[in-house]
Amino acid sequence: MTPELQDYFDRFNVSAAAREAVTAPSVMFINGEFTAGTSADSIPVLEPSTGAQLTALAQGTNADVDAAVAAARKAFDEGPWPRMVPAERQRILWKLADLIERDADILAEIETIDNGKAIGPCKDFDVLGSVELLRYMGGWATKIEGATRQISAGTDFFSYTVKEPIGVVGAVTPWNWPMNMAMWKLAAPLAVGCTMVLKTAELTPLSMAYVAKLMQEAGLPEGVFNIVTGHGHEVGAYLTAHPGVDKVSFTGSTRVGREVGKAAMSHFAPVTLELGGKSPMVAFEDADLEGIAEATRWSIFFNSGQNCSAGSRLYLHEDVFEQGLEVIKSQITQMKLCPGLDPDCDIGPVISAGAKANIERYLDLGRDTARTVFGGEKQTGDGFFVEPTLFAVEDNSSPLVQEEIFGPVLVALPFKDEAEAIALANDNPYGLGASVWSRDGARAQRVMRQLQAGSVWINCHDVVDVIMPFGGVKNSGFGKDLGREQIDHYLHTKAVTMAL
Ligand code: NAD
Repeated sequence: MTPELQDYFDRFNVSAAAREAVTAPSVMFINGEFTAGTSADSIPVLEPSTGAQLTALAQGTNADVDAAVAAARKAFDEGPWPRMVPAERQRILWKLADLIERDADILAEIETIDNGKAIGPCKDFDVLGSVELLRYMGGWATKIEGATRQISAGTDFFSYTVKEPIGVVGAVTPWNWPMNMAMWKLAAPLAVGCTMVLKTAELTPLSMAYVAKLMQEAGLPEGVFNIVTGHGHEVGAYLTAHPGVDKVSFTGSTRVGREVGKAAMSHFAPVTLELGGKSPMVAFEDADLEGIAEATRWSIFFNSGQNCSAGSRLYLHEDVFEQGLEVIKSQITQMKLCPGLDPDCDIGPVISAGAKANIERYLDLGRDTARTVFGGEKQTGDGFFVEPTLFAVEDNSSPLVQEEIFGPVLVALPFKDEAEAIALANDNPYGLGASVWSRDGARAQRVMRQLQAGSVWINCHDVVDVIMPFGGVKNSGFGKDLGREQIDHYLHTKAVTMAL
Protein backbone atom coordinates (compact mmCIF):
# COMPACT_ATOMS: atom_id res chain seq x y z
CA MET A 1 0.00 0.00 0.00
CA THR A 2 1.38 3.42 -0.93
CA PRO A 3 1.83 6.05 1.84
CA GLU A 4 -0.81 8.23 0.09
CA LEU A 5 -3.35 5.42 0.22
CA GLN A 6 -2.42 4.69 3.84
CA ASP A 7 -2.98 8.39 4.73
CA TYR A 8 -6.29 8.36 2.90
CA PHE A 9 -7.47 5.27 4.79
CA ASP A 10 -6.22 6.72 8.11
CA ARG A 11 -8.16 9.94 7.47
CA PHE A 12 -11.41 7.95 7.41
CA ASN A 13 -10.47 5.28 9.99
CA VAL A 14 -10.88 2.44 7.52
CA SER A 15 -10.95 -0.95 9.29
CA ALA A 16 -8.03 -3.38 9.02
CA ALA A 17 -10.31 -5.96 7.36
CA ALA A 18 -11.37 -3.55 4.61
CA ARG A 19 -7.78 -2.37 4.04
CA GLU A 20 -6.72 -5.97 3.58
CA ALA A 21 -9.65 -6.73 1.24
CA VAL A 22 -9.05 -3.76 -1.07
CA THR A 23 -5.27 -4.04 -1.36
CA ALA A 24 -4.73 -7.82 -1.63
CA PRO A 25 -4.56 -9.09 -5.24
CA SER A 26 -8.11 -9.81 -6.36
CA VAL A 27 -8.58 -13.33 -7.68
CA MET A 28 -11.29 -15.61 -9.01
CA PHE A 29 -13.39 -18.13 -7.09
CA ILE A 30 -13.71 -21.46 -8.86
CA ASN A 31 -14.95 -24.75 -7.38
CA GLY A 32 -14.78 -23.40 -3.83
CA GLU A 33 -11.20 -22.13 -4.12
CA PHE A 34 -9.62 -18.75 -4.73
CA THR A 35 -7.36 -18.83 -7.79
CA ALA A 36 -5.34 -16.40 -9.88
CA GLY A 37 -6.32 -18.43 -12.93
CA THR A 38 -4.25 -19.43 -15.93
CA SER A 39 -2.89 -16.04 -17.01
CA ALA A 40 -0.21 -13.95 -15.30
CA ASP A 41 -1.84 -10.77 -16.65
CA SER A 42 -3.81 -8.47 -14.41
CA ILE A 43 -6.05 -5.40 -14.56
CA PRO A 44 -5.44 -2.40 -12.25
CA VAL A 45 -8.24 -1.59 -9.78
CA LEU A 46 -8.47 2.14 -8.98
CA GLU A 47 -9.93 4.15 -6.09
CA PRO A 48 -12.20 6.78 -7.72
CA SER A 49 -11.77 9.63 -5.17
CA THR A 50 -8.02 9.80 -5.68
CA GLY A 51 -7.42 7.84 -8.88
CA ALA A 52 -4.80 5.79 -6.96
CA GLN A 53 -4.31 2.11 -7.74
CA LEU A 54 -5.67 -0.14 -4.98
CA THR A 55 -4.72 -3.55 -6.27
CA ALA A 56 -4.60 -5.76 -9.35
CA LEU A 57 -7.35 -8.03 -10.62
CA ALA A 58 -6.70 -11.46 -12.14
CA GLN A 59 -7.36 -11.30 -15.85
CA GLY A 60 -9.40 -14.39 -16.59
CA THR A 61 -9.09 -16.46 -19.74
CA ASN A 62 -11.37 -18.75 -21.69
CA ALA A 63 -9.70 -21.68 -19.89
CA ASP A 64 -10.74 -20.14 -16.53
CA VAL A 65 -14.32 -19.80 -17.78
CA ASP A 66 -14.24 -23.44 -18.91
CA ALA A 67 -13.06 -24.48 -15.44
CA ALA A 68 -15.75 -22.42 -13.71
CA VAL A 69 -18.53 -23.72 -15.97
CA ALA A 70 -17.28 -27.30 -15.48
CA ALA A 71 -17.36 -26.81 -11.68
CA ALA A 72 -20.89 -25.39 -11.82
CA ARG A 73 -21.96 -28.19 -14.17
CA LYS A 74 -20.59 -30.89 -11.86
CA ALA A 75 -22.20 -29.23 -8.84
CA PHE A 76 -25.51 -29.18 -10.69
CA ASP A 77 -25.37 -32.67 -12.23
CA GLU A 78 -23.85 -34.52 -9.29
CA GLY A 79 -23.60 -32.25 -6.26
CA PRO A 80 -25.86 -31.85 -3.23
CA TRP A 81 -27.25 -28.36 -3.99
CA PRO A 82 -30.15 -29.20 -6.37
CA ARG A 83 -30.83 -32.44 -4.44
CA MET A 84 -30.96 -30.87 -1.01
CA VAL A 85 -34.31 -30.44 0.72
CA PRO A 86 -35.36 -26.85 -0.02
CA ALA A 87 -35.40 -25.93 3.68
CA GLU A 88 -31.68 -26.69 3.84
CA ARG A 89 -30.90 -24.41 0.86
CA GLN A 90 -33.01 -21.75 2.54
CA ARG A 91 -31.04 -22.18 5.76
CA ILE A 92 -27.68 -21.71 3.97
CA LEU A 93 -28.87 -18.59 2.13
CA TRP A 94 -30.21 -17.14 5.38
CA LYS A 95 -26.88 -17.95 7.04
CA LEU A 96 -25.13 -16.04 4.25
CA ALA A 97 -27.51 -13.12 4.86
CA ASP A 98 -26.62 -13.18 8.57
CA LEU A 99 -22.88 -13.14 7.76
CA ILE A 100 -23.26 -10.20 5.37
CA GLU A 101 -25.22 -8.37 8.07
CA ARG A 102 -22.49 -9.18 10.59
CA ASP A 103 -19.83 -7.71 8.26
CA ALA A 104 -21.99 -4.90 6.87
CA ASP A 105 -19.61 -2.13 7.97
CA ILE A 106 -16.61 -3.85 6.37
CA LEU A 107 -18.52 -4.52 3.15
CA ALA A 108 -19.73 -0.90 2.99
CA GLU A 109 -16.12 0.26 3.32
CA ILE A 110 -14.94 -2.13 0.61
CA GLU A 111 -17.72 -1.11 -1.78
CA THR A 112 -17.19 2.59 -1.16
CA ILE A 113 -13.44 2.36 -1.67
CA ASP A 114 -13.82 0.29 -4.84
CA ASN A 115 -16.74 2.17 -6.41
CA GLY A 116 -16.53 5.65 -4.86
CA LYS A 117 -20.15 5.82 -3.67
CA ALA A 118 -21.28 7.54 -0.44
CA ILE A 119 -20.80 5.16 2.47
CA GLY A 120 -24.06 5.83 4.36
CA PRO A 121 -26.44 4.90 1.53
CA CYS A 122 -23.98 2.19 0.48
CA LYS A 123 -24.45 0.39 3.78
CA ASP A 124 -28.24 0.84 3.74
CA PHE A 125 -28.98 0.07 0.11
CA ASP A 126 -26.11 -1.95 -1.34
CA VAL A 127 -25.22 -4.08 1.67
CA LEU A 128 -28.32 -4.32 3.88
CA GLY A 129 -30.49 -4.36 0.75
CA SER A 130 -28.61 -7.51 -0.29
CA VAL A 131 -29.33 -9.07 3.11
CA GLU A 132 -33.03 -8.40 2.67
CA LEU A 133 -32.97 -9.86 -0.85
CA LEU A 134 -31.21 -13.06 0.26
CA ARG A 135 -33.80 -13.55 2.99
CA TYR A 136 -36.67 -12.91 0.61
CA MET A 137 -35.39 -15.19 -2.17
CA GLY A 138 -34.19 -17.82 0.33
CA GLY A 139 -37.82 -18.04 1.47
CA TRP A 140 -38.89 -19.00 -2.07
CA ALA A 141 -36.82 -22.20 -1.87
CA THR A 142 -39.61 -23.88 0.09
CA LYS A 143 -42.49 -22.50 -1.97
CA ILE A 144 -41.93 -23.90 -5.48
CA GLU A 145 -45.07 -25.61 -6.76
CA GLY A 146 -46.27 -27.41 -9.87
CA ALA A 147 -49.93 -27.95 -10.77
CA THR A 148 -52.25 -30.86 -11.49
CA ARG A 149 -54.43 -30.71 -14.62
CA GLN A 150 -57.24 -32.87 -15.98
CA ILE A 151 -56.39 -33.43 -19.64
CA SER A 152 -59.09 -33.96 -22.27
CA ALA A 153 -57.79 -37.37 -23.37
CA GLY A 154 -59.64 -39.01 -20.47
CA THR A 155 -59.97 -39.34 -16.72
CA ASP A 156 -57.69 -42.37 -16.66
CA PHE A 157 -54.74 -40.06 -17.09
CA PHE A 158 -52.97 -38.19 -14.29
CA SER A 159 -51.28 -34.99 -15.55
CA TYR A 160 -49.18 -32.54 -13.60
CA THR A 161 -46.29 -30.12 -13.93
CA VAL A 162 -42.99 -30.28 -12.07
CA LYS A 163 -40.80 -27.22 -11.57
CA GLU A 164 -37.10 -28.00 -11.87
CA PRO A 165 -34.05 -25.72 -11.55
CA ILE A 166 -32.96 -24.67 -15.02
CA GLY A 167 -29.30 -25.66 -14.55
CA VAL A 168 -26.07 -23.66 -14.79
CA VAL A 169 -26.56 -19.88 -14.90
CA GLY A 170 -23.99 -17.57 -16.51
CA ALA A 171 -24.38 -14.04 -15.13
CA VAL A 172 -22.61 -10.76 -15.95
CA THR A 173 -22.91 -7.64 -13.79
CA PRO A 174 -22.04 -3.91 -14.00
CA TRP A 175 -20.02 -1.68 -11.68
CA ASN A 176 -22.67 0.78 -10.49
CA TRP A 177 -24.02 -1.47 -7.69
CA PRO A 178 -21.32 -4.15 -7.73
CA MET A 179 -22.48 -6.27 -4.80
CA ASN A 180 -26.17 -5.50 -5.00
CA MET A 181 -26.47 -6.30 -8.72
CA ALA A 182 -24.60 -9.56 -8.15
CA MET A 183 -27.10 -10.41 -5.39
CA TRP A 184 -29.96 -9.60 -7.77
CA LYS A 185 -28.43 -12.19 -10.10
CA LEU A 186 -27.58 -14.95 -7.62
CA ALA A 187 -30.26 -15.02 -4.90
CA ALA A 188 -33.15 -16.36 -7.01
CA PRO A 189 -31.26 -19.07 -8.96
CA LEU A 190 -29.45 -20.35 -5.89
CA ALA A 191 -32.74 -20.48 -3.95
CA VAL A 192 -34.31 -22.84 -6.50
CA GLY A 193 -31.25 -25.10 -6.81
CA CYS A 194 -29.33 -23.74 -9.81
CA THR A 195 -25.56 -23.35 -9.81
CA MET A 196 -23.78 -20.43 -11.42
CA VAL A 197 -20.77 -18.59 -12.79
CA LEU A 198 -20.68 -14.82 -12.28
CA LYS A 199 -18.49 -12.42 -14.26
CA THR A 200 -18.06 -9.32 -12.11
CA ALA A 201 -17.29 -5.89 -13.59
CA GLU A 202 -13.56 -5.35 -14.06
CA LEU A 203 -13.76 -1.91 -12.40
CA THR A 204 -15.32 -3.21 -9.15
CA PRO A 205 -14.46 -6.82 -8.27
CA LEU A 206 -13.71 -6.44 -4.56
CA SER A 207 -16.99 -6.75 -2.64
CA MET A 208 -18.00 -10.01 -4.32
CA ALA A 209 -14.56 -11.51 -3.63
CA TYR A 210 -15.28 -10.84 0.06
CA VAL A 211 -18.80 -12.28 -0.24
CA ALA A 212 -17.29 -15.47 -1.73
CA LYS A 213 -15.40 -15.95 1.57
CA LEU A 214 -18.68 -15.55 3.43
CA MET A 215 -20.23 -18.18 1.14
CA GLN A 216 -17.54 -20.63 2.24
CA GLU A 217 -18.31 -19.77 5.87
CA ALA A 218 -22.05 -20.21 5.28
CA GLY A 219 -21.45 -23.75 3.98
CA LEU A 220 -22.34 -23.30 0.31
CA PRO A 221 -21.09 -26.50 -1.36
CA GLU A 222 -18.10 -26.18 -3.71
CA GLY A 223 -18.84 -25.37 -7.34
CA VAL A 224 -22.32 -23.98 -6.64
CA PHE A 225 -21.18 -20.38 -7.04
CA ASN A 226 -18.11 -19.35 -9.05
CA ILE A 227 -16.60 -15.99 -9.98
CA VAL A 228 -14.53 -15.28 -13.07
CA THR A 229 -12.93 -11.90 -13.57
CA GLY A 230 -11.54 -10.08 -16.56
CA HIS A 231 -12.53 -8.01 -19.55
CA GLY A 232 -16.14 -8.21 -20.66
CA HIS A 233 -15.46 -8.53 -24.40
CA GLU A 234 -13.23 -11.53 -23.61
CA VAL A 235 -14.42 -13.61 -20.63
CA GLY A 236 -17.92 -12.06 -20.54
CA ALA A 237 -18.48 -12.83 -24.20
CA TYR A 238 -17.05 -16.34 -23.84
CA LEU A 239 -19.20 -17.10 -20.77
CA THR A 240 -22.48 -15.93 -22.31
CA ALA A 241 -21.81 -17.95 -25.50
CA HIS A 242 -20.71 -21.05 -23.53
CA PRO A 243 -22.73 -24.18 -24.45
CA GLY A 244 -22.37 -25.39 -20.85
CA VAL A 245 -24.49 -22.49 -19.64
CA ASP A 246 -28.25 -23.16 -19.51
CA LYS A 247 -29.46 -19.64 -18.72
CA VAL A 248 -27.85 -16.23 -19.27
CA SER A 249 -28.58 -13.27 -17.03
CA PHE A 250 -27.08 -9.88 -17.83
CA THR A 251 -27.22 -6.41 -16.33
CA GLY A 252 -25.40 -3.61 -18.12
CA SER A 253 -25.57 -1.31 -21.10
CA THR A 254 -27.96 -1.69 -24.01
CA ARG A 255 -25.01 -1.86 -26.43
CA VAL A 256 -23.49 -4.88 -24.67
CA GLY A 257 -26.92 -6.39 -23.95
CA ARG A 258 -27.51 -6.71 -27.69
CA GLU A 259 -24.28 -8.77 -27.98
CA VAL A 260 -25.17 -10.87 -24.94
CA GLY A 261 -28.62 -11.64 -26.38
CA LYS A 262 -27.01 -12.96 -29.59
CA ALA A 263 -24.45 -14.98 -27.60
CA ALA A 264 -27.22 -16.60 -25.52
CA MET A 265 -29.24 -17.43 -28.64
CA SER A 266 -26.18 -19.08 -30.22
CA HIS A 267 -26.75 -21.98 -27.81
CA PHE A 268 -30.50 -21.40 -27.19
CA ALA A 269 -30.11 -20.35 -23.58
CA PRO A 270 -33.00 -18.23 -22.30
CA VAL A 271 -31.75 -14.78 -21.37
CA THR A 272 -32.68 -11.95 -19.01
CA LEU A 273 -31.44 -8.52 -20.12
CA GLU A 274 -31.54 -5.66 -17.60
CA LEU A 275 -30.24 -2.74 -19.65
CA GLY A 276 -29.96 1.04 -19.67
CA GLY A 277 -32.60 3.65 -19.02
CA LYS A 278 -33.60 7.28 -19.40
CA SER A 279 -36.56 7.30 -17.08
CA PRO A 280 -39.03 10.20 -17.22
CA MET A 281 -40.67 11.94 -14.29
CA VAL A 282 -43.94 13.53 -15.45
CA ALA A 283 -45.16 16.24 -13.05
CA PHE A 284 -48.44 18.09 -13.40
CA GLU A 285 -49.34 21.56 -12.11
CA ASP A 286 -50.79 20.09 -8.88
CA ALA A 287 -47.67 18.00 -8.10
CA ASP A 288 -45.79 18.09 -4.81
CA LEU A 289 -42.68 20.03 -5.89
CA GLU A 290 -40.78 19.40 -2.66
CA GLY A 291 -41.48 15.68 -3.10
CA ILE A 292 -40.13 15.80 -6.65
CA ALA A 293 -36.95 17.53 -5.51
CA GLU A 294 -36.48 14.90 -2.79
CA ALA A 295 -37.04 12.15 -5.39
CA THR A 296 -34.38 13.59 -7.71
CA ARG A 297 -31.99 13.56 -4.76
CA TRP A 298 -32.50 9.81 -4.28
CA SER A 299 -32.68 8.97 -7.94
CA ILE A 300 -30.56 11.00 -10.35
CA PHE A 301 -28.11 12.61 -7.88
CA PHE A 302 -27.76 9.65 -5.49
CA ASN A 303 -24.96 7.28 -6.56
CA SER A 304 -23.67 10.17 -8.71
CA GLY A 305 -26.41 9.49 -11.24
CA GLN A 306 -25.02 6.03 -12.02
CA ASN A 307 -28.41 4.52 -11.58
CA CYS A 308 -30.21 2.65 -14.37
CA SER A 309 -33.72 3.75 -13.35
CA ALA A 310 -32.70 7.30 -12.36
CA GLY A 311 -35.38 9.90 -13.07
CA SER A 312 -33.10 11.63 -15.56
CA ARG A 313 -35.76 13.44 -17.64
CA LEU A 314 -38.15 15.74 -15.80
CA TYR A 315 -41.27 16.91 -17.64
CA LEU A 316 -42.82 19.71 -15.59
CA HIS A 317 -46.10 21.44 -16.43
CA GLU A 318 -45.38 24.91 -17.83
CA ASP A 319 -47.34 26.62 -15.01
CA VAL A 320 -44.94 25.32 -12.34
CA PHE A 321 -41.82 24.90 -14.48
CA GLU A 322 -39.68 27.73 -13.08
CA GLN A 323 -40.93 27.23 -9.54
CA GLY A 324 -40.16 23.51 -9.70
CA LEU A 325 -36.61 24.11 -10.93
CA GLU A 326 -36.01 26.54 -8.05
CA VAL A 327 -37.21 24.00 -5.46
CA ILE A 328 -34.89 21.35 -6.90
CA LYS A 329 -32.01 23.83 -6.98
CA SER A 330 -32.50 24.78 -3.32
CA GLN A 331 -32.40 21.12 -2.22
CA ILE A 332 -29.73 19.68 -4.49
CA THR A 333 -27.14 22.45 -4.19
CA GLN A 334 -26.99 21.56 -0.46
CA MET A 335 -25.69 18.08 -1.29
CA LYS A 336 -22.06 17.45 -0.35
CA LEU A 337 -19.73 16.30 -3.16
CA CYS A 338 -16.69 14.60 -1.62
CA PRO A 339 -14.96 11.22 -1.15
CA GLY A 340 -17.52 8.52 -0.42
CA LEU A 341 -15.78 7.52 2.81
CA ASP A 342 -16.67 10.87 4.38
CA PRO A 343 -19.63 10.02 6.66
CA ASP A 344 -21.41 13.24 5.53
CA CYS A 345 -20.95 12.48 1.83
CA ASP A 346 -24.04 12.77 -0.38
CA ILE A 347 -22.37 12.43 -3.78
CA GLY A 348 -19.07 10.64 -4.37
CA PRO A 349 -16.99 10.58 -7.54
CA VAL A 350 -18.10 8.73 -10.66
CA ILE A 351 -16.48 5.41 -11.41
CA SER A 352 -13.57 6.27 -13.73
CA ALA A 353 -11.74 8.92 -15.72
CA GLY A 354 -13.48 7.60 -18.85
CA ALA A 355 -16.93 7.96 -17.27
CA LYS A 356 -16.10 11.49 -16.12
CA ALA A 357 -14.90 12.49 -19.60
CA ASN A 358 -18.06 11.04 -21.15
CA ILE A 359 -20.33 12.96 -18.76
CA GLU A 360 -18.33 16.13 -19.36
CA ARG A 361 -19.08 15.89 -23.08
CA TYR A 362 -22.77 16.20 -22.13
CA LEU A 363 -21.94 19.13 -19.82
CA ASP A 364 -20.30 20.88 -22.80
CA LEU A 365 -23.38 20.20 -24.92
CA GLY A 366 -25.67 21.44 -22.15
CA ARG A 367 -23.76 24.68 -21.69
CA ASP A 368 -23.88 25.24 -25.49
CA THR A 369 -27.49 24.30 -26.19
CA ALA A 370 -29.51 24.55 -22.95
CA ARG A 371 -30.00 26.80 -19.90
CA THR A 372 -27.90 25.82 -16.89
CA VAL A 373 -30.02 25.94 -13.73
CA PHE A 374 -27.15 24.77 -11.54
CA GLY A 375 -23.84 22.93 -11.92
CA GLY A 376 -22.43 22.27 -15.36
CA GLU A 377 -18.82 23.18 -14.56
CA LYS A 378 -16.00 20.65 -14.90
CA GLN A 379 -14.20 19.66 -11.71
CA THR A 380 -10.42 19.77 -11.63
CA GLY A 381 -7.99 17.93 -9.34
CA ASP A 382 -7.55 14.29 -8.40
CA GLY A 383 -10.47 11.92 -8.46
CA PHE A 384 -13.37 11.52 -10.83
CA PHE A 385 -15.81 14.12 -9.46
CA VAL A 386 -18.76 15.54 -11.40
CA GLU A 387 -20.86 18.33 -9.98
CA PRO A 388 -24.66 17.79 -9.79
CA THR A 389 -26.20 19.60 -12.75
CA LEU A 390 -29.63 20.64 -13.99
CA PHE A 391 -30.23 21.82 -17.55
CA ALA A 392 -33.51 23.30 -18.79
CA VAL A 393 -33.82 21.96 -22.35
CA GLU A 394 -36.26 22.89 -25.12
CA ASP A 395 -35.74 20.14 -27.66
CA ASN A 396 -36.87 16.62 -26.76
CA SER A 397 -34.66 15.21 -29.51
CA SER A 398 -31.47 16.59 -27.93
CA PRO A 399 -28.92 13.91 -26.99
CA LEU A 400 -29.18 15.35 -23.46
CA VAL A 401 -32.78 14.06 -23.38
CA GLN A 402 -32.48 10.96 -25.55
CA GLU A 403 -29.25 9.37 -24.30
CA GLU A 404 -28.29 7.77 -20.99
CA ILE A 405 -25.68 10.16 -19.52
CA PHE A 406 -25.12 7.96 -16.44
CA GLY A 407 -23.97 10.86 -14.29
CA PRO A 408 -25.57 13.41 -11.91
CA VAL A 409 -27.18 15.36 -14.75
CA LEU A 410 -30.92 16.08 -14.79
CA VAL A 411 -32.67 17.59 -17.80
CA ALA A 412 -36.03 19.38 -17.48
CA LEU A 413 -38.56 20.26 -20.18
CA PRO A 414 -41.96 22.01 -19.94
CA PHE A 415 -45.24 20.65 -21.30
CA LYS A 416 -48.74 22.08 -21.83
CA ASP A 417 -51.16 19.19 -21.29
CA GLU A 418 -51.55 15.49 -20.52
CA ALA A 419 -51.34 14.30 -24.14
CA GLU A 420 -48.13 16.24 -24.78
CA ALA A 421 -46.57 14.98 -21.54
CA ILE A 422 -47.24 11.34 -22.47
CA ALA A 423 -45.96 11.82 -26.02
CA LEU A 424 -42.73 13.45 -24.81
CA ALA A 425 -42.16 10.83 -22.11
CA ASN A 426 -42.63 7.93 -24.56
CA ASP A 427 -40.49 9.54 -27.27
CA ASN A 428 -37.33 7.75 -26.15
CA PRO A 429 -35.71 4.39 -26.96
CA TYR A 430 -35.61 3.25 -23.33
CA GLY A 431 -38.42 1.93 -21.12
CA LEU A 432 -37.08 1.03 -17.69
CA GLY A 433 -38.90 3.24 -15.17
CA ALA A 434 -41.20 6.28 -15.12
CA SER A 435 -43.07 8.32 -12.55
CA VAL A 436 -46.24 10.42 -12.53
CA TRP A 437 -46.73 13.28 -10.11
CA SER A 438 -50.23 14.64 -9.49
CA ARG A 439 -52.72 14.98 -6.64
CA ASP A 440 -55.45 13.90 -9.10
CA GLY A 441 -55.55 10.12 -8.64
CA ALA A 442 -57.58 9.40 -11.78
CA ARG A 443 -55.19 11.41 -13.94
CA ALA A 444 -52.21 9.65 -12.38
CA GLN A 445 -53.77 6.25 -13.19
CA ARG A 446 -54.60 7.31 -16.77
CA VAL A 447 -51.06 8.48 -17.42
CA MET A 448 -49.55 5.43 -15.71
CA ARG A 449 -51.38 3.15 -18.17
CA GLN A 450 -49.90 4.94 -21.17
CA LEU A 451 -46.30 5.20 -20.06
CA GLN A 452 -43.99 2.70 -21.79
CA ALA A 453 -41.96 1.43 -18.83
CA GLY A 454 -41.35 -1.70 -16.78
CA SER A 455 -42.00 0.14 -13.50
CA VAL A 456 -44.21 3.17 -12.92
CA TRP A 457 -44.17 5.03 -9.63
CA ILE A 458 -46.93 7.47 -8.65
CA ASN A 459 -45.90 10.45 -6.50
CA CYS A 460 -42.53 8.81 -5.87
CA HIS A 461 -39.66 7.58 -8.04
CA ASP A 462 -37.27 4.64 -7.87
CA VAL A 463 -38.91 2.97 -4.90
CA VAL A 464 -37.37 -0.41 -5.67
CA ASP A 465 -38.23 -3.32 -3.39
CA VAL A 466 -37.24 -7.00 -3.36
CA ILE A 467 -40.93 -7.95 -3.52
CA MET A 468 -41.64 -6.02 -6.74
CA PRO A 469 -40.42 -7.26 -10.15
CA PHE A 470 -37.91 -4.95 -11.83
CA GLY A 471 -37.04 -4.88 -15.52
CA GLY A 472 -37.68 -2.85 -18.63
CA VAL A 473 -39.31 -2.76 -22.03
CA LYS A 474 -38.00 -1.35 -25.35
CA ASN A 475 -34.22 -0.84 -25.31
CA SER A 476 -34.13 -1.41 -21.54
CA GLY A 477 -34.33 -5.17 -22.18
CA PHE A 478 -36.65 -7.94 -21.01
CA GLY A 479 -37.19 -10.32 -18.14
CA LYS A 480 -37.48 -9.46 -14.48
CA ASP A 481 -35.18 -9.41 -11.53
CA LEU A 482 -36.70 -9.36 -8.01
CA GLY A 483 -40.19 -10.43 -6.98
CA ARG A 484 -41.72 -13.86 -7.48
CA GLU A 485 -41.54 -13.26 -11.26
CA GLN A 486 -37.76 -13.68 -11.13
CA ILE A 487 -38.06 -17.16 -9.64
CA ASP A 488 -39.84 -18.41 -12.77
CA HIS A 489 -36.88 -17.42 -14.98
CA TYR A 490 -34.77 -20.06 -13.20
CA LEU A 491 -37.28 -22.92 -13.33
CA HIS A 492 -38.00 -25.32 -16.13
CA THR A 493 -41.60 -26.57 -16.22
CA LYS A 494 -41.76 -30.29 -17.02
CA ALA A 495 -45.17 -31.59 -18.17
CA VAL A 496 -45.90 -35.15 -16.93
CA THR A 497 -48.78 -37.41 -17.96
CA MET A 498 -49.29 -40.89 -16.53
CA ALA A 499 -51.79 -43.44 -17.83
CA LEU A 500 -53.42 -44.96 -14.77
P1 NAD B 1 -21.42 -2.53 -19.63
O1 NAD B 1 -22.47 -3.08 -20.52
O2 NAD B 1 -20.29 -1.81 -20.24
O3 NAD B 1 -20.76 -3.71 -18.78
C1 NAD B 1 -21.55 -4.57 -17.98
C2 NAD B 1 -20.83 -5.88 -17.81
O4 NAD B 1 -20.74 -6.52 -19.08
C3 NAD B 1 -19.39 -5.75 -17.30
O5 NAD B 1 -19.12 -6.80 -16.40
C4 NAD B 1 -18.57 -5.92 -18.57
O6 NAD B 1 -17.28 -6.43 -18.32
C5 NAD B 1 -19.41 -6.94 -19.33
N1 NAD B 1 -19.22 -6.97 -20.78
C6 NAD B 1 -18.70 -6.03 -21.61
N2 NAD B 1 -18.70 -6.47 -22.88
C7 NAD B 1 -19.23 -7.72 -22.87
C8 NAD B 1 -19.53 -8.68 -23.88
N3 NAD B 1 -19.27 -8.45 -25.17
N4 NAD B 1 -20.11 -9.84 -23.50
C9 NAD B 1 -20.42 -10.10 -22.22
N5 NAD B 1 -20.15 -9.22 -21.21
C10 NAD B 1 -19.57 -8.05 -21.54
O7 NAD B 1 -22.18 -1.66 -18.55
P2 NAD B 1 -21.57 -0.85 -17.33
O8 NAD B 1 -20.96 0.39 -17.86
O9 NAD B 1 -20.77 -1.75 -16.47
O10 NAD B 1 -22.90 -0.51 -16.49
C11 NAD B 1 -23.70 0.58 -16.75
C12 NAD B 1 -24.93 0.18 -17.56
O11 NAD B 1 -25.66 -0.82 -16.85
C13 NAD B 1 -25.88 1.33 -17.74
O12 NAD B 1 -26.36 1.34 -19.05
C14 NAD B 1 -27.00 1.02 -16.76
O13 NAD B 1 -28.24 1.60 -17.07
C15 NAD B 1 -27.04 -0.46 -16.82
N6 NAD B 1 -27.70 -1.03 -15.64
C16 NAD B 1 -28.95 -1.56 -15.78
C17 NAD B 1 -29.62 -2.05 -14.66
C18 NAD B 1 -31.00 -2.64 -14.78
O14 NAD B 1 -31.46 -3.28 -13.83
N7 NAD B 1 -31.69 -2.46 -15.89
C19 NAD B 1 -29.00 -2.01 -13.40
C20 NAD B 1 -27.72 -1.47 -13.31
C21 NAD B 1 -27.08 -0.99 -14.44
